[in-house]
Amino acid sequence: MAIALCQSMHIKLPRLRRAPSDGVLIDGRYRNVVLNGSVALATYVVGIVLFGGYLIDADRASRWYAPILVLLLYDLGYYWLHRALHWRPLMRRVHWVHHRTSHPTAVDSLYLHPLETVAGLVVLLASMAAIGPLGAGAFIAVAVAHSLVNVLVHANLSVPVRLAWLTNHWSARHDAHHSSSGNFGNITPLWDWLFGTSACTQHA
Ligand SMILES: [Zn+2]
Ligand SMILES: [Zn+2]
Repeated sequence: MAIALCQSMHIKLPRLRRAPSDGVLIDGRYRNVVLNGSVALATYVVGIVLFGGYLIDADRASRWYAPILVLLLYDLGYYWLHRALHWRPLMRRVHWVHHRTSHPTAVDSLYLHPLETVAGLVVLLASMAAIGPLGAGAFIAVAVAHSLVNVLVHANLSVPVRLAWLTNHWSARHDAHHSSSGNFGNITPLWDWLFGTSACTQHA
C-alpha cells in the first residue's frame, strides 16, 4: 500500500531527481519486486519457526523504547552490511541489481537481489533477538516500521510540508547514495557521521 501511495504521489509532487536512463534499465523490475516480497515473507516465516522463542514472547508487554532500540541496532548492522555489499565482489554479484537505478522510487525498495533481502532481514531479526524477545505488538511495530522506512527512503519525493521533513530527508540522503556513494545507513545519519561516510545531500 505504501509503495502504491508513494508511486502515485509522483503525479502530484515532483520527484527529487530523475535520470533519462532510469526507465531503460529496469526491465523485469515488477517481477523482481514480487519475488523479493515473497522472499521477505518466507524469511519472516522461517525466522519465526526456527527462532520464534528469541524473537517473540506473546505474554510479555515490551517497554515503549524496545522497538526504537531494535531499529537503532538494526541500522548499525545494516550500515555495515551495506558497506560490505559495496565491496567489489559483492557489488558485482549481489548489490548491482539494486543500483541499476540511479534515482530510485518507492517500488525500488524491493528491487534487489534476493540474497540482499534475506541478509537485511537476518540483520533485523538478529537485532530483535539481541534486544528481545519482543511482545507481539512490538514485533509487528518493528516489522512495519522497517518496511515503511525502506519504502520512504526510496520514495524520491519532495513533499512541500514542514511535517514531512524526515521523509524528505530520508529520500534525499538515499537518492545521493544511488547517484554517487556514501550514506550507507537508512534510518539515522548517525553511523555515516561516526564512520566518515556521509555524502553531500541536496534537498529539493
Ligand atoms: Zn548501495
Ligand atoms: Zn536503495
